Amino acid sequence: MIAQVQSWLERAQRVVALTGAGISTDSGIPDFRGPQGLWTKNPLAEKMSNIHYYLADAEVRKASWQNRLSSPAWHARPNPGHLALVELEKRRKLHALITQNIDELHQIAGNSPERVIEVHGTMRRFMCWGCGMRGPMQLVLERVRAGEADPQCRDCGGILKSDTISFGQQLVPEVIEQAMRAAGEADFFIAIGTSLQVYPVAGAVDLARSAGARIVIVNAQPTPFDEVADAVFNQPISEILPAILGSGARSLQ
Ligand SMILES: [Zn+2]
Repeated sequence: MIAQVQSWLERAQRVVALTGAGISTDSGIPDFRGPQGLWTKNPLAEKMSNIHYYLADAEVRKASWQNRLSSPAWHARPNPGHLALVELEKRRKLHALITQNIDELHQIAGNSPERVIEVHGTMRRFMCWGCGMRGPMQLVLERVRAGEADPQCRDCGGILKSDTISFGQQLVPEVIEQAMRAAGEADFFIAIGTSLQVYPVAGAVDLARSAGARIVIVNAQPTPFDEVADAVFNQPISEILPAILGSGARSLQ
């Protein structure tokens, strides 16, 4: 099956990858929805990721800032799964990299920022809910470290948060359009580490299929699209992805 996928990839010119939390778990970033997820372990985590609780309750915000300070993502390094996607870009095959992740590990691994479409934003930037100002997250985290439990915008006094899409918050239409347009232009579409259960992002698979793209799914658990996919892999992402995409490790053949 790996050899088959590689031959499709050999002919492909516009590969679109869609990545979810599963690609970052091997970098030590837990999937908050999975069985070992943060939500299961800490009920407050669900409130912290909901925009309505966040805006309404200073205690939720204080807990959120402490949570951001101690996020494992600050020390996380890209894993071989991320590097395989860098390899794909070096081979000039990567048309777009749509990601549901907020950790920027794709850019840190070496993918060009202009190829990466972050449908859920990034935790490495803050935004002001009042005036929309944005900037590096570390600037605000320094204020938290210095003792501000719930720092406010220095321009307008508004509530600050990470520049990510919380639950209850609208996706950015321009970003979703960009992602869907790219998916519709794919000749090879690979979904990696995502359950494909959340629309509109899961709709990218439908668009790619309609465009005639080969569909490959790499995920530990089954997805609703497995039946229509051309190939499905359930092995660990950091092992299987280099074998499929990279010119390096082909040991799994
Ligand atoms: Zn502001």
